[in-house]
Formats: sequence, structure tokens, C-alpha cells
Amino acid sequence: MTIALTIAGSDPSGGAGIQADLKTFSALGAYGMAVITALTAQSTQGVSDVFPVPADFVKQQFDVLINDSNIDCLKIGMLMNEAIVNAVAELLSQNPLPYVVLDTVMVAKGGHALLKQTAIDVIRQKLLPLATIITPNLPEAAALLNCPEATNESQMQQQGQALLQLGCKAVLMKGGHLPGDECPDFLITSKEIIRYATRRVNTNNTHGTGCTLSAAIAALLPVLTLGEAIKQAKDYLSGAIANADRLHVGKGIGPTHH
Ligand code: PLP
Repeated sequence: MTIALTIAGSDPSGGAGIQADLKTFSALGAYGMAVITALTAQSTQGVSDVFPVPADFVKQQFDVLINDSNIDCLKIGMLMNEAIVNAVAELLSQNPLPYVVLDTVMVAKGGHALLKQTAIDVIRQKLLPLATIITPNLPEAAALLNCPEATNESQMQQQGQALLQLGCKAVLMKGGHLPGDECPDFLITSKEIIRYATRRVNTNNTHGTGCTLSAAIAALLPVLTLGEAIKQAKDYLSGAIANADRLHVGKGIGPTHH
């Protein structure tokens, strides 16, 4: 069985972060492990506070696992600060893993910061080159490139190419922030550009969609080609969003249905 590790933040409401990652791993047939980078106090109504784990203890959590198990794939989510980004980059340089999906988490949908501004440079310089694939949405791509947000598909592709130049092996540019009935995503590698289009689902319950997608890609990469892993991960997320309104969790932006 695939062993999938997530290094990310905790969402006690269960819709995003570590909790979403573990549900996704299980649903896709992988055994899930989790290194926690930060505790959040949050509900479906938003994040009220964040308590980062000391970087040394993030390292300690990883070290004991890597010495004990063969980890097949890694998803990286919320990292919160420079010290944790540096620690994760160091761990991965010393212990390369076969597949690394870097979800460049920066801000929660409600607006609360999940990454300090000063940590973006360290992600760009140290972590991006260690990633098999990064999965930025449009504001995250713009922050990584220090440029205005893409407003059309051609700019999305250009920004994806520019991110590839920073050293990751592939980029999944997520176009959910573009207006329209369709959400276009682009997979960009040095060899090809693949466009994936998904019809927008009319629901307010989209908490944790980015976490779920990146965890799904990580769980599927050891068993599928990159293009097929993304297609199936997107199908999994689409199903989770399509069924989200059946859940009735909380009073705010509810979770998707795994
Ligand atoms: N909480 C944690 C721990 C997360 O990792 C994330 C997203 O990555 C969120 C909250 C925010 O999720 P969303 O923006 O989908 O509401």
C-alpha cells in the first residue's frame, strides 16, 4: 500500500489541512501519516487564530517517521513561517522523497494568513526546487512571481512557465479564481501543457478544496502518470464538491464531501 505523508496545519473543523489530507489519502487507497506544522482555531466561519509548532519539533516529527517507514509520497500544505519552511526544505534535501506535491498555501478563504509574507521568498528559493509539482491558485502564483494576478488563460500559462523556471518539475495552475462557468487548470511541464476544464459547481461549501486536490495528487502519483494522477485527483475533488451540500456542517463555508 502507498504510504502518503502530509506536512501541514491542523483544521479542527475537519474540512481543510491535515484532516482533509488524511480523509483524501484514505479515500484514494493510501495509508496516511501526518506531521503537524501549526494548530489553528477555526470553524466553517473562519480561522480565529494560529499557533505554529516550533520548527525543531516539526523536524523531530519528520525524523522519527523517516527512520521508521518507507514514505512513497509527500504533500506539503500550510507552513506558516520562515523557520518551518527552512526546516522542511532542509529535511527534504537530506531525505529526498519520490513525489513531493507542494500546495503553496498562503491565505484562508476567509482572509486569515496561513503563511507570513516573509516566508514567500524562502518557499520560492528553497522549497520550489524540491517539488515534483506545485499547485498554486492565481493569487499564490502572482505572489510567488511578484507580479499581477493572471486574468486570462494565456497569462495563466505564461505564469506557469515562469514558475517552472524556478526549479520545480511541474506546475498545476488552478484557474478557479477566473470568472465564468468553467474552471480551467493548466498542467505545465518542460514537455507539455495540458488544459483541464471543470464546470463550476454552484455551492458555498468549498472549504479545503485546495488541500483535498493536492493530497489527492500526492496519493495518486506513485501509481499513475502525472497527467492521469491530476485528472483522477480533479475527478475526486469534483465529486467531493458536487456532494458538499449534503453535509450540513457548520454555519459558514462548509467542507466538501469525501
Ligand atoms: N486551515 C488549514 C490548516 C489549511 O491548510 C487551509 C488551506 O490550505 C485552510 C485552513 C483554508 O482552507 P480554505 O481556504 O479552503 O477555507
